[in-house]
Amino acid sequence: MTKFVYTFGNTSAEGDASQADLLGGKGANLAEMAKLGLPVPPGFTITTDFCNEYFKNGGNFPDSLVNEVEKALSEVENIMDMKYGDPDSPLLVSCRSGARQSMPGMMETVLNVGLCPSTIPGLIKKTQNEWFVYDAYRRLIMMYSDVVMEKAEDIETASGQDIRIQLEDIMEDLKIDKGYESDTDLAVEDLKFLCEKFKEKILENFGKPFPDDPKDQLWGSIGAVFKSWHGKKANSYRKIEGIPDEWGTACTVMSMVFGNMGDTSATGVAFTRNPATGENKFYGEWLVNAQGEDVVAGYRTPNPLNDDTKNDQNKHLESLEQKMPEVYKELYEVRNNLEKHYSDMLDIEFTIQEKKLFMLQCRVGKRTGAAALNMAIEMLDEGMIDEKTCVTRIKPEQLDELLHPIVSPKAEAATSPVAKGLPAGPGGAAGQIVFTAEEAVKWYKEGKEVVLVREETNPEDVEGMRAASAILTAKGGMTSHAALVARGWGKCCIVGASMLEINASEKELKIGSKTYKEGDLFTLNGTKGLVYEGTLDMLDATENPNFKRFMEIVDKFRTMGVRTNSETIKDAKTALEHGAEGIGLFRTEHMFYGENSEKPLFLLRKMILSSTEDERRTALDELAPYVTRDIKETMEVMDGLPVTIRLLDPPLHEFIPHAKDKQEEVAKALNIDLEEVKRRGESLQESNPMMGHRGFRLGVTYPEITEMQIRGILEAAASMIKEGKNPKPEIMVPVTCDAKELVIAKEITDKVHEMVCSENGLEKIDFLFGTMIEIPRAALLAHEMAEVAEFFSFGTNDLTQMTFGFSRDDSDVFMGPYMDYEIIKNDPFQTLDKSGVGQLINYGVERGRKTRENIKIGICGEHGGDPASVEYCYEQGFDYVSCSPFRLPIARLAAAQAEIKSSSK
Ligand code: PEP
Ligand code: MG
Repeated sequence: MTKFVYTFGNTSAEGDASQADLLGGKGANLAEMAKLGLPVPPGFTITTDFCNEYFKNGGNFPDSLVNEVEKALSEVENIMDMKYGDPDSPLLVSCRSGARQSMPGMMETVLNVGLCPSTIPGLIKKTQNEWFVYDAYRRLIMMYSDVVMEKAEDIETASGQDIRIQLEDIMEDLKIDKGYESDTDLAVEDLKFLCEKFKEKILENFGKPFPDDPKDQLWGSIGAVFKSWHGKKANSYRKIEGIPDEWGTACTVMSMVFGNMGDTSATGVAFTRNPATGENKFYGEWLVNAQGEDVVAGYRTPNPLNDDTKNDQNKHLESLEQKMPEVYKELYEVRNNLEKHYSDMLDIEFTIQEKKLFMLQCRVGKRTGAAALNMAIEMLDEGMIDEKTCVTRIKPEQLDELLHPIVSPKAEAATSPVAKGLPAGPGGAAGQIVFTAEEAVKWYKEGKEVVLVREETNPEDVEGMRAASAILTAKGGMTSHAALVARGWGKCCIVGASMLEINASEKELKIGSKTYKEGDLFTLNGTKGLVYEGTLDMLDATENPNFKRFMEIVDKFRTMGVRTNSETIKDAKTALEHGAEGIGLFRTEHMFYGENSEKPLFLLRKMILSSTEDERRTALDELAPYVTRDIKETMEVMDGLPVTIRLLDPPLHEFIPHAKDKQEEVAKALNIDLEEVKRRGESLQESNPMMGHRGFRLGVTYPEITEMQIRGILEAAASMIKEGKNPKPEIMVPVTCDAKELVIAKEITDKVHEMVCSENGLEKIDFLFGTMIEIPRAALLAHEMAEVAEFFSFGTNDLTQMTFGFSRDDSDVFMGPYMDYEIIKNDPFQTLDKSGVGQLINYGVERGRKTRENIKIGICGEHGGDPASVEYCYEQGFDYVSCSPFRLPIARLAAAQAEIKSSSK
């Protein structure tokens, strides 16, 4: 029989930290902490395997599980010397969710389970603290009715309003009536009154009473934890993070310890180092006389843990170090022990019950990209980790954040912030303000940049948070759920900006005397917590010396090459700074767009609008020097490094203007009839241009274009050779589907090569000749293509388009529903589809290498900068990946991590 329940407590445990898959991160680390002898309240974890069983069983608990739970519970009772449901010495428990990967705030937890009229008197007698017992009971009723009775059962309340809000309103009204400021001002009688009122409301809403039976409460809570795996917010978060449904959550049932037993009790959350900057300083927040939910929910501003955690919002509040120095010292030692044991930065939760410290949770802490980098380098220097581990400590995507824009300090100096909050997520961002997650998603889909402004941090907003460029909240601390989520994504985020007066229903925001409306522009500096009106200039993040050092270490482990997709001197230079080892895709058509393109574009149009081959050749001769110069300039920046130059790819109609006034300009400049321009433009129109007259099809119909381009490439190379330089051109033929196309292109190339050599007095010009593989047929016939091609570069943008039959340009219309139905898991234009497109790649590589053992293989589609796709290319034995200049560090790190992963297998 499968074992589903694992116990921990009293310095021993059945599981350990390596079993996160089975016990969830929470269960596994509690077991590990118990084994380390740390003060962990005893408990047990029901495995993630059971979560899957539970859903298979239609949400029932088999007898075997009931027996396992009863046995485990009695072990906890023995350690605690209390009994669950016992009237004299009642044990209370918490039921906590925990998946193998942390999903902050996305699943449910129920605290104070086991409290009911039959156990209340016993607990009062034992604790001599009636206030605490009724505070715990009102919390249980609020949480249980929300999590177990409403959310888990997916029930609509009778009034349509969430039960939690209804109960909070009752409590708020009472506080106002009595003139109380804080929950802790409520008297025992108030709490008793509230509990009764709450129960009435629950009966009214659900048509059944609140369960005042310890057994019902326990099993109800366990079931709700499992059901929260399929709750709305957990489902959304999983989709965004790519977490598989099959993982399931574990449920940890542990003995309650109480942070709400008065002034010597407290609860808190901490990071062993600063999660925003990586600084080696203990960092956290705590609240006196509170339970865990109070710290993360963000409705009370938490106190700083120590001096290092003080900021403008909390500096007037007492730190734990000041208030309870002994307990702080003990916690600090726990922090040191945990870091030493895990060799990483941890996120911990603790409770202090009447001056006694308990550890409720520890897990590897989420961190910003900058913090991940700084910590990895510092821990390496401290001797805590080796270079290999250092390389694995940063997710490739996190590097993106380091290269994120920041608000220009000059622009900031010239203005004043309108609000200030806590710097929860790095970098700068600007956008139009919106007040609901739904609006954020809607506006984002309309192509707008938005700043999501919310009262407090709420995991239900996860999709809106994702869509927003930045998040701004009025309440909440640095460890609030929104802060954790935003930080995990590297998103600009400011929380706890208490001067914001938000009126979400009126779509208005007041700061002081000024009112802002939905759609107004704000700029956020998430690194400093400053909010500005309007849009401020942005700058690239200044270079962090640790970044350079980290990338040098990364390259020690990387074996696969990295190149860039670049066409300009500027991009090529940036790419070199970011570690490019050559150019994997130089799209020749780019010289006809953007800066300084007027003249070459004019000549190209002249060529396209020619009516005879002679006219075309004349125009091409005029264009040739521009082509040569353009190629030469970039090859010079890359001197000594390979540069893959692709022959013209787009269909020609793209270069003919459609607007009448532009057509008139062209007609006038070329001295031809406007009607002729129109007619040519129309005749070049195609109904399916991506599958039309493009790529080497242009070379087959107009070989003189190919000839001119190859001449441009080889003349650029010849001129560099004569200047003593070392060009390494690679001529690449796009959009091919048959080896015969390559034979034709190669014949032209050889002929031009001979001519250019003799004109320049050179014996030969070294170059490689190859093709893109971007049509499925080319991949299937790779063995034939490799007869002619000396290299393949997988053009996975087109290969994806043609394999799926999804248009690159219009597929966003159905991509959303396709993902909702899980027909596809990720957008295949962003992350390589291994199962389909991957097969073609695999086949192409194998076949190509069979014909030409040392054929050079690379990728130049957008996937070349996507970490998961880079890993796949590594596994397929690619020689290099090529991506845009700013994605190079990501590709380098992904390649190094792929190597480390495979060599440690
Ligand atoms: C490709 O198709 O993957 C590619 C790199 O070419 P383009 O995006 O220019 O079509
Ligand atoms: Mg292509």
